[in-house]
Amino acid sequence: MLKYHMPTRLYFGRDCLLENAADIFGLGKNALIVTDKNSARLSGAGEDLLRTLKRNNISFEIFDEVTENPTLGAVCRGARLLKEKRADFLIGVGGGSPIDAAKAISVIAANNFEGREIYSSGKIKKAYPIVAVPTTAGTGTEATPYSVITDEEISRKAGFGSPHIYPVVSYLDPKYTLSLNANQTRNTAIDALSHLLEGIYSTDRNFLVTPLIHKGASIIYSNLVPALTDLKNFEYRERLMRAALYGGMVIAQTSTTLQHAIGNPLTTEFGIPHGLANGIVMKEIMELFYSSVRNQIDDLFLCLGVSKREFYDWLDLLDMKLTDKLTDDFIERSSKSVMKSGDIPISPVEVREDTVRKIYKSLR
Ligand code: NAP
Ligand code: FE
Repeated sequence: MLKYHMPTRLYFGRDCLLENAADIFGLGKNALIVTDKNSARLSGAGEDLLRTLKRNNISFEIFDEVTENPTLGAVCRGARLLKEKRADFLIGVGGGSPIDAAKAISVIAANNFEGREIYSSGKIKKAYPIVAVPTTAGTGTEATPYSVITDEEISRKAGFGSPHIYPVVSYLDPKYTLSLNANQTRNTAIDALSHLLEGIYSTDRNFLVTPLIHKGASIIYSNLVPALTDLKNFEYRERLMRAALYGGMVIAQTSTTLQHAIGNPLTTEFGIPHGLANGIVMKEIMELFYSSVRNQIDDLFLCLGVSKREFYDWLDLLDMKLTDKLTDDFIERSSKSVMKSGDIPISPVEVREDTVRKIYKSLR
């Protein structure tokens, strides 16, 4: 059975926010801008946004307490501010972290949740409208019904999903990503590549996502290395942002899989950036699933014009290594927590706790 849902209005291209801001005006007169410390300023997205809001008499409040891997505590504070200031809608500006935080704040405030209730996706009945202005090209959160929040009290990073948190409108302007450094560019592009590959691994894949997967992966394969040596090149940025959007559109239908579930504890425990955590386990996951989805992966490699070996060599070139030592205690705790993830049942082969343990051990 085919199921496809994507209600977000998307604008893509240089100055798309400045030229199409009218879509925001119908959402209300009072916005809560959700962002982190630097991305809105460094990318120029903050300046474009404030100019647009002021010119159109939309008042706003800024909540800039979001950090990488946004925490439950921060989104609860954001939800209190939204209520106090009586905001009508939210604008998430930055990478995946601020946009995911905006989604979580929206849900907590609209449903009067105690923080942890957000993880009970079935309880989400409504949300305040969300506008997304991404400044990275990776997560695809501008086109997904997901948000990933860390419960800092128990050190667990987990996602939740609801059709209510698809952004109403997303503005993707590649110029906002010109200020990313090489590591941020690599890590976010590899996150997007993970989403595209996970569209193949997921048992929820369908024929509509296959062209997005092929096109997105070939864009990243051909453009990431050149982009890393020419960070201010708009054309590379435009292509990588397109690939990241394709990745978001794919996981919106298929969800993420074991690759994300296994990467999250590496982020929570060692602070490894999200995309890098996915990249570190990319080969291992492909080896695990290859025999079950061999035709689909071979089709992808045909499209890229490479063999599996050459693809692995390309990954090696990107130098994604784990420098932290995985202790037995970490492996035991994390293998148990990975098995609780909703990403596990949609794997193309049965994943057992021992499978997860072996993958972590192979990284030592
Ligand atoms: P991020 O955590 O939002 O940002 C990473 C770093 O990049 C931050 O230090 C930020 O700076 C900086 N930054 C962002 N844009 C910049 C720009 N244009 N110029 C210079 N610096 C910039 O990174 P991300 O990879 O985009 O998001 C990762 C998060 O998204 C993770 O929590 C992940 O789990 C989640 N995610 C969500 C989905 C979904 O569907 N919802 C999918 C995949 C991943 P400052 O903090 O200093 O401002
Ligand atoms: Fe991701």
